[in-house]
Amino acid sequence: SPGVEIQERIVRDGVDIEMYAPGAAKPVRAAFVVLVRNSELLGMKQAMRQIEDRFNSKFNYPYVFLNDVPFTDDFVAETTAMTRANVSYGVIPTEHWSYPAWINQTHALECRQSMEQQGVFYALSESYRHMCRFNSGFFFRHPLLSDIEYYWRIEPDVEYSCDIDYDPFLFMSRRGIKYGYTIALHEYPETIPTLWATVKNLIASRPGFVRHANGMAWLSEDGGDTYNGCHFWSNFEIGSLDFFRSKEYLAYFDYLDKAGGFFYERWGDAPVHAIAAALLLKKEEVHWFEDIGYYHNPWTNCPQSPESRLRCHCDPEKSAIHHYWASCTQSWLALPSSNSSQSAKG
Ligand code: GDP
Ligand code: MN
Repeated sequence: SPGVEIQERIVRDGVDIEMYAPGAAKPVRAAFVVLVRNSELLGMKQAMRQIEDRFNSKFNYPYVFLNDVPFTDDFVAETTAMTRANVSYGVIPTEHWSYPAWINQTHALECRQSMEQQGVFYALSESYRHMCRFNSGFFFRHPLLSDIEYYWRIEPDVEYSCDIDYDPFLFMSRRGIKYGYTIALHEYPETIPTLWATVKNLIASRPGFVRHANGMAWLSEDGGDTYNGCHFWSNFEIGSLDFFRSKEYLAYFDYLDKAGGFFYERWGDAPVHAIAAALLLKKEEVHWFEDIGYYHNPWTNCPQSPESRLRCHCDPEKSAIHHYWASCTQSWLALPSSNSSQSAKG
């Protein structure tokens, strides 16, 4: 693009990638998006240090920090000092982090208590449910992201274990990729007892909602009757905000929100995002970043190629890809291409 100072070009998987000078206007409007608590400052600095050293000191993408309460002066000062990039801090609007009018809060409390009896993680937590609902339906509407096309989600305490020498945002935008992940897992069924029934009702009530027939085979082993729990682990995501802002996604989120499962159960943003991605995007619009070394307790993604030993500090043997609980990556890769499903549908 005119006006962008390009320092060098590299080729990755046949795609010509531009590396540009810090501070240069970027060909892709992109940002790191971080929902985080003030109490997680140290873990946040750890994650930022790695992101900066492994990637962003060369690319200089801005950070957008979001919180349900104002960030403290210390949080702002210490995270701003981690990077030369632009950093902004936003408070989440109350209506994006509170009970909608149609939720029966007494019933929600009873549901949390009964999930606690079943030993579900975060069963009693109200804030966890607001967090999952915010990440499912609202983060992409925050005013600080209104000019942004692509986001990269970061959490405190994660690790980035490989040098990233190309621009994943540019890579995605050049190839028309809408959603990128590193680890794909099965969900705990106790957190989402009625999620799939709700999705099936939505599909039945909206003919044409499913635009990617192959994606159903990734979500279900029995032709759509039951959900196998496959999802992309959403603490790492690089994605298109326009996908989440699409009228199909917004209608899907509204339908789920009205059903109440964010509060009466504990629907996670990971299965919510993944079900939409599988049903609405083509196989080629979803990308596994095999080459990005990543750790969030307790799972790792670590590149397998011998060459990556020179740019990584992770153990390829420990990569989630070897574990049956993370076999949803292999099953995504095994899907037929969407071009073949298009022609099958006629
Ligand atoms: P887990 O990864 O599912 O165990 O959940 P986390 O505790 O890591 O929460 C997911 C993300 O949301 C992290 O980036 C947290 O910092 C953030 N988060 C969770 N709860 C809250 C909250 O109540 N307020 C804010 N501001 N951020 C939260
Ligand atoms: Mn986390």
